[in-house]
Amino acid sequence: MNWANRVYIKTPAEIEIMRQAGRINAEVLATLKALLKPGITTAELNEAAEQVLRKHGCYSPFKGYGQPPFPASITVSINEELVHGIPSPKRKVREGDIVSIDCGTVYRGFVADSAITVGVGQISPLAQRLLEVTEGALYAGIEKMRPGNRTGDVSAAIQQFVENHGFYVTREYTGHGVGRQMHEGPQVPNYGTPGQGWLLRPGMVIALEPMVLVGTDKTRVLKDGWTVVSADGSLTAHFEHTVAVTEEGPLILTALDDL
Ligand code: MG
Ligand code: MG
Repeated sequence: MNWANRVYIKTPAEIEIMRQAGRINAEVLATLKALLKPGITTAELNEAAEQVLRKHGCYSPFKGYGQPPFPASITVSINEELVHGIPSPKRKVREGDIVSIDCGTVYRGFVADSAITVGVGQISPLAQRLLEVTEGALYAGIEKMRPGNRTGDVSAAIQQFVENHGFYVTREYTGHGVGRQMHEGPQVPNYGTPGQGWLLRPGMVIALEPMVLVGTDKTRVLKDGWTVVSADGSLTAHFEHTVAVTEEGPLILTALDDL
């Protein structure tokens, strides 16, 4: 994958544009979270996402991406589906599901990329713990996004947090630099060795995205060519933020409000 070697340092002005993109992306996710009730279809969630994006004159880089071209603006991945689920008018959200929604926003030529996993109604204690561990792993990784650290420090922090709680990280899908392209260097796996990998410098922007599985690190792709599921059918979760490395520390660009 040659995108992984193309690392672009962003100027403060570019990071400010990415912050605007990130805020719009956060508005999409907040809107969808509020709509997540039993009975809504994943296609309806996609339509709602597109409405918010259109209101801001934006679009998602997901649509048309890859091969076969991804047909929607968000991915919706439920329970054992880890990532890349295709929205469908036939797929209804049910009580007790955990629903991962990943969205991207292109604003003034820059991409923001983030994901949340949300429980619908009453969810099992295991599902609740999985959500907390996956989101906790994201923040453990973000905490390492400081000048002088390396991508291996970020990866290792995510891996250790997840494995200390008895769950598994995927080996097959990774975090990534993000900017004018959705996927730029450096590649940031959810496992790694402290002190290894790319040196983090102010102006690097990386989408960190722990993808966590309850029972295995193995996945497979369904016949639709996109949907990634856990190989053993166990529950999975995914959280993602687009984060800038700054002199002052990590800056989360896809937060809804300034922190
Ligand atoms: Mg994403
Ligand atoms: Mg991503």
